[in-house]
Amino acid sequence: MQEKNILLKLELQPNTTLDEVLDILSDNIIGYDESFSYIEKKLVLLMLRSYSISEKVTINFKCPHCNRVNDQSITINDIIKEPSQQSVDIKGVEYKVKFCVDELTQENLHAFTHHSEDEIDELSNKDFEVLFNFINDNRYMLDFTYVCKCFSCKESVVQCFDDEQFILKSLSEDDVMSLYNTVNDLVFHGRYSKYDVDNMLPFERNIFLGLVLETINKLK
Ligand SMILES: [Zn+2]
Repeated sequence: MQEKNILLKLELQPNTTLDEVLDILSDNIIGYDESFSYIEKKLVLLMLRSYSISEKVTINFKCPHCNRVNDQSITINDIIKEPSQQSVDIKGVEYKVKFCVDELTQENLHAFTHHSEDEIDELSNKDFEVLFNFINDNRYMLDFTYVCKCFSCKESVVQCFDDEQFILKSLSEDDVMSLYNTVNDLVFHGRYSKYDVDNMLPFERNIFLGLVLETINKLK
């Protein structure tokens, strides 16, 4: 409990890192692989939020044209851009695009297809090049930019929201009323004690609540 209280204070500081959050979560909630790249870690946390709280998240930003603060709702799943073509045929073999958001290099091409590293190594130079170029043009991408019109001056605003602190904050968006409902649901449906709930971190509360609600829905 003492550790949690320290973290509770830490959470309010602007220097809590993604790794610290993932470390806490990895024991209980998610199968988290230490070899994840930075961008995969961000995606894991956003998906966790999408799954346990809501896939909508509100972003606040100041319009660069009129300086008014805008609230806009974004959908987390929209961050993942699907490839325009899902597979390519090279000499009668179909190569399907696999979900991977790493940086593409000559060495990791196999990670972007359902074929093994050995199979990719056996390709002729020319076929390798065809596959490489295809994957380069057709792979899953993450797009953290959001384009909208300012509600006040109607100018177009491009906002980037891949900031680590934004992602961490998105895990704990409790206003007073929803916090009350969260505690209520966790205590009455989740059979947690009020003491347990009070000692959870805000994002833990949200994630546990998501899991509790999912269980309730399954039981219905
Ligand atoms: Zn504006």
